[in-house]
Amino acid sequence: MDIDTIAAIATPPGEGGIGIIRISGKDALDIGNKIFLNRDKKTLKDLEERKLNYGYAINPKSSKKIDEVMIVFIKGPKTYTTEDVVEVHCHGGTIPVRRILEAVLESGARLAEPGEFTKRAFLNGRIDLAQAEAVMDLISAKTDSSFDVSLKQLEGSISKEVSNMMSTMLEMLAHIEASIDFPEEHDVDEITYGQLEDGGKSILEKIEKLLDTVYTGKVLREGLKTVILGKPNVGKSSLMNAILRESRAIVTDIPGTTRDIIEEYVNIKGIPLKIIDTAGIRETEDLVEKIGVDKAKEILENSDLSIVVFDVSRELDDEDLEIIELVKHKKSIVLLNKTDLPKKIDEEDIKRYLPNTAIINTAIVAGRGIDILEDTLKSMFLSSEIQIKDNTIVTSVRHRNQLLKAKENMKDALESINLGVPIDCVEVDIKNAYENLGEITGDTVGEDIIDKIFKDFCIGK
Ligand code: GDP
Ligand code: ZN
Repeated sequence: MDIDTIAAIATPPGEGGIGIIRISGKDALDIGNKIFLNRDKKTLKDLEERKLNYGYAINPKSSKKIDEVMIVFIKGPKTYTTEDVVEVHCHGGTIPVRRILEAVLESGARLAEPGEFTKRAFLNGRIDLAQAEAVMDLISAKTDSSFDVSLKQLEGSISKEVSNMMSTMLEMLAHIEASIDFPEEHDVDEITYGQLEDGGKSILEKIEKLLDTVYTGKVLREGLKTVILGKPNVGKSSLMNAILRESRAIVTDIPGTTRDIIEEYVNIKGIPLKIIDTAGIRETEDLVEKIGVDKAKEILENSDLSIVVFDVSRELDDEDLEIIELVKHKKSIVLLNKTDLPKKIDEEDIKRYLPNTAIINTAIVAGRGIDILEDTLKSMFLSSEIQIKDNTIVTSVRHRNQLLKAKENMKDALESINLGVPIDCVEVDIKNAYENLGEITGDTVGEDIIDKIFKDFCIGK
């Protein structure tokens, strides 16, 4: 295990109120001591622990002042990493944080790798792997709901469920060992198999229950990928504006994978939507025309929902039909817009083309129907009894994959039990399931996976 002392700038690059340099490891206090002096020429060692002290960061060789700072020393193990930690709070500019970091590195710290502070918290046993991953999810959360779920995971929601299953498995394995070692004391056929079946079934159920939350988890994490479709002038931009106005905006333009595409995160009644808007929609007002049918199809393939807008004041035409054709087999919501004008589209026609689709009458410019759209969205995606607040929700693809593997293992185990296969075969399946679940919490995980997980963290976390 690493025992050297690491340091990094913990605040994001750029200018801000405060910049923080974090130091962790056995030499943290020594290093903090070398780079700090207060007005009374006291060093960090002269001052109280866990107290923010005012003074100056200094160059350890020349004793020249670098910046006015607040500094705190926190003795392990009650720290983020469980190691001794020093934090220096300086002015939030690129120069002071860089200079202080340099002074810290010259005083004996090593520059931390991405995620290394959190990795130490994990390696030192303060948090498990799922909790460490939750830290990263918290930081990168784009929606309130995904932040809330990550916070629960940091508190150990996934970890607790998985560890419970693992301890049940350990009991089962102990039972099997006992029946193998002392067969005369155990009626293997009846008692053990029966108990194993009960235990196995209850674990399988729990795994399945967690897997049931994966879709919700994906929606919460990534947002419901939503495309607004419609021929020119039906009211797409007006809808977009209305949604942006209504939602507690988390609106950031994030360039997507394709250069033309802009993704905006909005929150509609707790459902995070990632509206896949194309620059094209704004320029030529028509997704299909701008980027072509193939591209539109591709976007639709990768989306969870399309909102299709029609203008009821104009008769249905080929362009409308082309769009209907595109969304025919996709989850969609139809808006019959401009209902404030004389109607030239028969709702029944739309129903015939798109029989299983919710149809909502709107007059977007008048603000009518938006609330119904929001309710419809909510009931479409959160009707599945999954209460975000009270449930453990699986948001990580890695966790999902491990759960799927463990599920297969447990199914195999149950099948073997039913067939009365020799008990050591059942044992192997349960052991595999145990290992697979253990990779979620980090109990049974290899170094390569750990490195891969922390590699994606940001510097200073
Ligand atoms: P887009 O081309 O699909 O993005 O359509 P826009 O949102 O740019 O709207 C085209 C025109 O229709 C604009 O002049 C809007 O003000 C108008 N419009 C949008 N919604 C309504 C509506 O519900 N009723 C009426 N009467 N006009 C609307
Ligand atoms: Zn538009």
